[in-house]
Amino acid sequence: MKLSKAHIKTLREVPAEAEIPSHILLLRTGMIRKLASGIYGFMPFGWRSVRKIEEIIRQEMDAAGAQEIHMSAIQPAELWQESGRWSAYGPELWRIKDRNGRDFCLGPTHEEIFTDLVRNDISSYRQLPMNLYQIQTKYRDEARPRFGLMRSREFIMKDAYSFDRDFAGLDQSYDNMYRAYEKIFTRCGLTFRAVDADTGAIGGSNSHEFTALSEVGESEIAYCEKCAMAATTERAECVDAPAEDAPLLALSEVYTPGTKTIEEVAGFLGVPQERTIKALLFVTYDDEGEFKEYVAAFIRGDRELNMIKLVNALGIPEHAIAFADEAAMGAATGSVGGFTGPIGLHDCKLVVDSELKGLRNLVAGANKEDHHIKNVNYGRDYEGDIVTDIKMLREGDPCPVCGAPVKHTRGIEVGQVFKLGTKYSQAMNATYKDENQEDHPLVMGCYGIGVTRTLAAIVEQHHDDNGIIWPVSVAPYHVIITLVKPDDQAQRQTAEEIYDQLAASGVEVLLDDRDERPGVKFKDADLLGIPLRITVGKRAAEGIVEYKLRREAEKTEKTVAEAVREAIALVAAEK
Ligand code: ATP
Ligand code: MG
Repeated sequence: MKLSKAHIKTLREVPAEAEIPSHILLLRTGMIRKLASGIYGFMPFGWRSVRKIEEIIRQEMDAAGAQEIHMSAIQPAELWQESGRWSAYGPELWRIKDRNGRDFCLGPTHEEIFTDLVRNDISSYRQLPMNLYQIQTKYRDEARPRFGLMRSREFIMKDAYSFDRDFAGLDQSYDNMYRAYEKIFTRCGLTFRAVDADTGAIGGSNSHEFTALSEVGESEIAYCEKCAMAATTERAECVDAPAEDAPLLALSEVYTPGTKTIEEVAGFLGVPQERTIKALLFVTYDDEGEFKEYVAAFIRGDRELNMIKLVNALGIPEHAIAFADEAAMGAATGSVGGFTGPIGLHDCKLVVDSELKGLRNLVAGANKEDHHIKNVNYGRDYEGDIVTDIKMLREGDPCPVCGAPVKHTRGIEVGQVFKLGTKYSQAMNATYKDENQEDHPLVMGCYGIGVTRTLAAIVEQHHDDNGIIWPVSVAPYHVIITLVKPDDQAQRQTAEEIYDQLAASGVEVLLDDRDERPGVKFKDADLLGIPLRITVGKRAAEGIVEYKLRREAEKTEKTVAEAVREAIALVAAEK
């Protein structure tokens, strides 16, 4: 491709809303173009990289025995009603109606569609196991689209669904996909970790998130350097503080004026925050979005609540809970904002962190303005409707597996694999017949990769102040030939010769033949992040060119033949 003919528009200025490097650089290079909030188009260079990621995924999925199909992005509501997710999925589901008023949605994921497909197509155990996948556009009306391709409302996903006879088969299908994912993300040039994850709106039992390590990532990961434990902090189990055996002291109400926060009350009473109980007040909603109940969650004062654990404990989706209005909840349950404690609440569900059961003589709110109670003890003074782990694992807390202090890091979730089991096949009656003609539900797994988010994650891990540094495997082009003086006969001839030789060997090559100053051309080559630059300048007549890898600082002079040979070898090795 001659750069003078390429449809490319680099930007000097990017919109202020672009905060993170991948968003800024994908806009500056003109690879993506914003159409509306969270909705982007791909320009030629961006689309070439997207297709390379897709091709890597295709190759590894096919090698793992999966078969590609392509289903519609538009999905009839009836299938979602059958699985129960039409109401449970919440406002992220992009609902539409056809001209006759029939309900559809733009698919955020395709469990229902694939389950429907196989319940019609699979009848016998002889057809199993089966793994079907597609690479397709997904829609989620995200509450806060941001960071460009990272969290958009329209995005490309690879989604795969496996169907097995039994759970042992599922384990194999899952491991098979897990290994394919390791290969895919390695070939994309990502540094990543596979971590234990929550199953979220998709459901099922086991799950791993594949997380590209990055400061700007929205996933927080807890991991242990002593053992193999690695989990999202949403998922990571916590070790409760050891139970105490101090004698139970008598309750005593104390006047604590204006001490609404844990910090204030602990400071006022001169006790450590660990000796207090923190209350968090919520309201929950049913599938129709109507009021369901008030919930008070209690954790040790110095802890942070884990919302995912809380909604899992309540058995509700994340969008069905919100912070309660203090006055309204107070009127209904007796809670007093800033002074809420577990004793004497009514008409409200109490969710108590398991750790509180074993701790003695804590300070809690008195459900009375400006008052707390000392020596509050679980069992004697209050009980929980639900008692379970609802706290965040903090950096330095003991590892739930081996006890060593855990570390935290951040990452971008680029893929996730789930063991669904029979959640969808049972709801939707997808069965097969075994050797004895008996019916069994299909045992399913599902496996997603965010293709466009992966593109952003690659840029996040591969850039410097001057622009992107594409790994060869996903670069829009492998080589850029910078022609310093397009009107110099010798230079032009040499550049075209190199161009032709590389192209003939299957190298994807750009020729910067634009009538621009050399400085501008070098800057653009760096910004675009083409892995190798061959500069044809003053010494072209002697057959000498400059050879520079984008990822390295140093440049070397080489003969044309050497430069061509090394370029071909580089691409062959890293493609
Ligand atoms: P998140 O927790 O980031 O919202 P998710 O867990 O809901 O994502 P999945 O249902 O597991 O997402 O979807 C599979 C993959 O699709 C994710 O691993 C991610 O790479 C990608 N993905 C999900 N939501 C978005 C989005 N809004 N924009 C871009 N990619 C997304
Ligand atoms: Mg996920």
